[in-house]
Amino acid sequence: MRIDLHAHSNASDGTDSPAELVAAAVAAGLDVVALTDHDTVAGHAAAAEAVRGTGLTLVPGAELSCHTDGVSLHLLAYLFDPAEPAFAAERELVRTDRFRRGRAIVERCRELGAPISWEQVERIAGAGSVGRPHIASALVEAGVVATVSDAFTADWLANGGRADVRKHETDPVEAVRLVRGAGGVPVFAHPGAVKRGRTVSDEVIAELAAAGLGGLEVDHVDHDEPTRAHLRGLAAELGLFTTGSSDYHGHRKTVRLGEHTTDPAAYEELLAQASGAEPVHG
Ligand code: AMP
Ligand code: ZN
Ligand code: FE
Ligand code: FE
Repeated sequence: MRIDLHAHSNASDGTDSPAELVAAAVAAGLDVVALTDHDTVAGHAAAAEAVRGTGLTLVPGAELSCHTDGVSLHLLAYLFDPAEPAFAAERELVRTDRFRRGRAIVERCRELGAPISWEQVERIAGAGSVGRPHIASALVEAGVVATVSDAFTADWLANGGRADVRKHETDPVEAVRLVRGAGGVPVFAHPGAVKRGRTVSDEVIAELAAAGLGGLEVDHVDHDEPTRAHLRGLAAELGLFTTGSSDYHGHRKTVRLGEHTTDPAAYEELLAQASGAEPVHG
């Protein structure tokens, strides 16, 4: 079984449509793929339609933007009821604030001399939940930086960078409760991704575990070997399962689907904890 539990479509900041993502997952030889767009479920229906007859299993999910003590972090949520009102309202709040903040970042980039526009970012983002990677693509188009990754420096879009503007982000304890309240399973995404900025302490992870966290994403491109070993130990201590996933973004990032995968036993544990939605078997 090849199981990849973290992938983005153009419903957020990936470049594949949900149907293209499903086709790419089949081509990559995956048995299970989770669609985890930032703060939105807008890609679920098209992805579910596309898996029909492929033999691929789709796990509907999302990746939530959270913030605590000056640290931004991401919480993956799987198999929640998308209609549950409290969690749906919080996703809506984050998505709406992404537009205000996107405009503010574009304004800041222009003040710093980058010839980009909000119209350009809107064209790049399409219907997607707008984020810094879309603005990074605009900076690449404008010739300000060479690659999307080069836009995530202190000069431009990195956390705390010259053109970074904060968006509304949920407190992670609250987010864990919202996901569980919607019958979903929360998993801490790339908890040790230090190259993206500050990360939270083991104490905060323990606090999230006490609030109902299900697992830690351990095998991820942004974790080195010592970080993975440490997280595996911490997960065992806290009774959390561990996952591995690509965090695929289409051509906006260099990772390939299935570059990291999740153990079938951990996937079974995730399924056993879920009550808000069912995987879609194609
Ligand atoms: P946003 O959700 O708008 O705050 O943007 C966050 C997204 O930017 C993350 O989900 C990553 O996909 C991307 N990102 C953050 N830091 C980096 C980085 N150092 N290099 C490349 N992409 C990054
Ligand atoms: Zn992303
Ligand atoms: Fe993330
Ligand atoms: Fe992601």
